[in-house]
Amino acid sequence: MTDMKILVQKFGGTSVANLECMRRVQEKVLEGLAQGYKVITVLSARAGDTNKLLSLAEEWSPTPDRAACDVLVSTGEQVSISLFTMLLRDAGVRARSLLGWQIPITTDEDFGRARIRAIDSKALRAQLENYDVLVVAGFQGCTEDGRITTLGRGGSDTSAVALAAALGSVECHIFTDVDGVYTTDPNICSTARKMDRVAYEEMLEMSSMGAKVLHIRSVEFAKKYKVPVRVRSTFSDDPGTLVTQEDSSMEAVLVSGIAYDRDQARVTLRDLPDVPGMAAAVFGPLSEKGILVDMIVQNTSLDGHTDITFTISRKDLQQTLRIMDEVAKKTGASEVLHDVSVAKVSAIGVGMRNHSGVAARAFAALTQEGINILMISTSEIKITLLIQEKYLELAVRILHDTFGLDWDIG
Ligand code: ASP
Ligand code: MG
Repeated sequence: MTDMKILVQKFGGTSVANLECMRRVQEKVLEGLAQGYKVITVLSARAGDTNKLLSLAEEWSPTPDRAACDVLVSTGEQVSISLFTMLLRDAGVRARSLLGWQIPITTDEDFGRARIRAIDSKALRAQLENYDVLVVAGFQGCTEDGRITTLGRGGSDTSAVALAAALGSVECHIFTDVDGVYTTDPNICSTARKMDRVAYEEMLEMSSMGAKVLHIRSVEFAKKYKVPVRVRSTFSDDPGTLVTQEDSSMEAVLVSGIAYDRDQARVTLRDLPDVPGMAAAVFGPLSEKGILVDMIVQNTSLDGHTDITFTISRKDLQQTLRIMDEVAKKTGASEVLHDVSVAKVSAIGVGMRNHSGVAARAFAALTQEGINILMISTSEIKITLLIQEKYLELAVRILHDTFGLDWDIG
């Protein structure tokens, strides 16, 4: 069958949590079939199951062997695909379940956060000659020599996008419990709006900022292989948000979304000698310990001395301070200061590429409300401001308003 139309649909943990939810999933799959598609249904583990399995591993071992742990945590998806296949079979659908190794989805050997290397799409197409629905376990694969791997938390989005890329699926539908991607967090800003479309690059910036709708690797994958991804709800008929390639209509919009991240801590080294090698002396030891530094600012030099300020994740603060005490001793910096009551807010939009003045508008809007900007960083499609955490929600609302995101421009 050469003209086989294939649709990949992925359902997250809350969509397969119980029998009632799975019946909704079944409806979505039947809709796909009714539209003439062969359906690849990728499932996550039922909500909470992966966490339970991980705590079980921790009961047995303080540092569970990663390969052994993957054999355990991958069983969450085995449960959901088996249960769901039973429902489809009872409904008379020609369906079967498939674990990662049965396809196979081949990965590298980085247990616990493996990367997909190849998918045997020929084998899958051959299966589709005999079945109308293949119910595939997300989040898992196997190494060349057949050992089970998992792709990192939230990894079944990546399984789905990779399958869609391998099979040339028209779109990859990621079903979840929200009806799409919003211009900002609706819990903070009541005028947040569901977007119809968002560019891959914008989505990447939004998920790295903690807008956790899609696994970040799945977006990278989708961008690389140009797979259109539709984020939609299992519990409504809303068409959701299409994550796709940027085009001129997206570029006409200056800012598409406001993201934020509370997980920030700020560290300052005072009075470092302003000589070559200082930045390396500060950031070298941090990167050796795998600590990710986010924003960095170096002041202008005064009397041959300067200050360096940077931000990190709060969980890394204690370790960073210990390292900075050492760095201060070696370099002669006068003191190490820190502040955990900070947060960052970002305006994101591919339209910024062609327009100047976005940063100035953001600064002016915050200044008007008396919000002090502590640090600034910019990229081609993003402006990030570090502010006091107590002003975060206000700042999100002000920026959302300033850039007209509450207008329904469709
Ligand atoms: N079940 C896995 C997790 O909870 C994978 C996923 O849901 O995407 O991380
Ligand atoms: Mg998820």
